[in-house]
Amino acid sequence: MPDKYSAVWVSHSSMGDFLKCPRSYYLHNMYKNPKTGHKISIVNPHMSLGITVHEVLEGLAEYPADTRMNRDLLKWFDEVWQKVSGKKGGFTSNEEEQEFKSRGIEMLQNVTKDPRFLTNKCIKLKRDTMPCNFYLSEDHNIILNGLVDWIEYLPETDSLHIIDFKTGKKEESESSLQLPIYLLLCNALQKRKVTKASYWYLENDKIVEKELPDADTAYRDVFEIALRVKEARRLSKREGEEKIFVCPKGKYDSVTKEGGCIHCRPYEWIINNDKQTESVGIGGFNQDMYIIKK
Ligand code: SF4
Repeated sequence: MPDKYSAVWVSHSSMGDFLKCPRSYYLHNMYKNPKTGHKISIVNPHMSLGITVHEVLEGLAEYPADTRMNRDLLKWFDEVWQKVSGKKGGFTSNEEEQEFKSRGIEMLQNVTKDPRFLTNKCIKLKRDTMPCNFYLSEDHNIILNGLVDWIEYLPETDSLHIIDFKTGKKEESESSLQLPIYLLLCNALQKRKVTKASYWYLENDKIVEKELPDADTAYRDVFEIALRVKEARRLSKREGEEKIFVCPKGKYDSVTKEGGCIHCRPYEWIINNDKQTESVGIGGFNQDMYIIKK
């Protein structure tokens, strides 16, 4: 029986970090605060908006299709919002918080007005306390994990429609690994065929149907990146993380405050105890959470 704890776990976000840059991957996914032994994470308003809207919409899957929309989504959202209110949600002023909360309210008003496929039957992938996961390769001890936002059951074809809820304004890029990963998760964790995939941009209530990737191509693309991640982690054990996870723009210098770029700099500030950062507690996965002060 393979040991899941010794496996390399990869996800859409960790592979995205790796593709952005190796040091970005290291700071987001491997670095641990030497004092607490915890990974570090930065909360921000966009993330809080995404988490809360997703919690409400994904929570709807717990209810039977015919009575699913018989609840007050705005009241539910208000309760969920308490978890991210103030600094712990990355908000540095009341105005900022209200601006983001209003955006969430508008999204859920759109959903209430026209819930689309949310009133149809749906399925959920099996999971325990971890996100849904499966062995991408037992031989290489690599596990792929992720959460598919919504899976609609299509009775006419006895197949599935996967949907990703978007709370940001930016459209997902064509080269994104998100759909390939969702497809692989669905194929590995249940038996029905996935025949349709869509992004639902909640703010302007726009559905964008996407062509499904071919399963073999999806596997090849994801596995190739996962192997690169695994190899980088292996080399870093031998040669040291600083040698393998190198920033191509030159390492951030805490004295001159130069080097690196916007993606990693806030993490470098935390590591260097910069006064722009402030600890706001411990996150759900035991990470040390910080905000960046403006
Ligand atoms: S700071 Fe460096 S490693 Fe991080 S994303 Fe920017 S260029 Fe890449």
